[in-house]
Amino acid sequence: MCTSLRARCGGCLSVAEPEELTAPVAEVFSSIQGEGLLAGFQQVFVRFRGCDLNCPYCDTPEARRLDGPCRAEVEPGGETEEQDNPLNVAQVAELVRRLAETRPQGLHHSVSLTGGEPLLHAEFIAELATQLRPLHLPVMLETNGQRPEDLRKVLGVVDWIASDYKLDSTMAQPVDPEARAEFLRLAQHSRNFVKIVVTDAVTSEELSRACAEIASTDQAVPVFLQPVTPVAEGIRPPSPRDLLALRACAAEYLRDVRVLGQVHRLLGLR
Ligand code: SF4
Repeated sequence: MCTSLRARCGGCLSVAEPEELTAPVAEVFSSIQGEGLLAGFQQVFVRFRGCDLNCPYCDTPEARRLDGPCRAEVEPGGETEEQDNPLNVAQVAELVRRLAETRPQGLHHSVSLTGGEPLLHAEFIAELATQLRPLHLPVMLETNGQRPEDLRKVLGVVDWIASDYKLDSTMAQPVDPEARAEFLRLAQHSRNFVKIVVTDAVTSEELSRACAEIASTDQAVPVFLQPVTPVAEGIRPPSPRDLLALRACAAEYLRDVRVLGQVHRLLGLR
């Protein structure tokens, strides 16, 4: 019988034991969270490889590739070593533990599972979060908010869900609106917040529709308007005046709207 911690293989005909689960990981490192509700806290980051979207403003394009090694910091901010992918759960848990147990105690607030799109590896994440419990660090999932069926596999195992709401005007192709709506419905029962990347192409009308949809699920969820970091030509944030107008527009629907850029970028951190 399938359980939440066992991977379905071949339509429930067989299951993968936890020790058989593997995933490609781009890097394991310690840094300051630069986005959303936990911005400013130091975290241990596990950045998974692979992504099901192709956002024009992606700031981690190398992590979208499934091939390549895992670069793991030996100590926070220190040397890195390379490991061959894929890694199993125990290997990744050990890389996290090595950083998390660095003195002084309390250096890290939490663990971030990010990407790429970490929910491409949902069974792995469910088992990893379970194996990380002895560290007593909350586990935050950072996701593009497009894989509700995979989110179900980690609900109750991760402590925070940070999901994106992708606006069509910021994407090369529109995302699946039904998957996005279902994701919001599922995430509302966990500690969660929503990030909306805004560019100079976003209009008040588009943002209003988005915020009305979010509010129909949870009017009090913290929503972060994140001015895009101009990572490529043609990717521009809204002007200061337009940003204020967008925030005012969002605040008509939602009780907790904040504006925050990518703080780690300002600090020169990854
Ligand atoms: S969802 Fe994230 S990792 Fe994937 S392409 Fe978009 S910004 Fe990059």
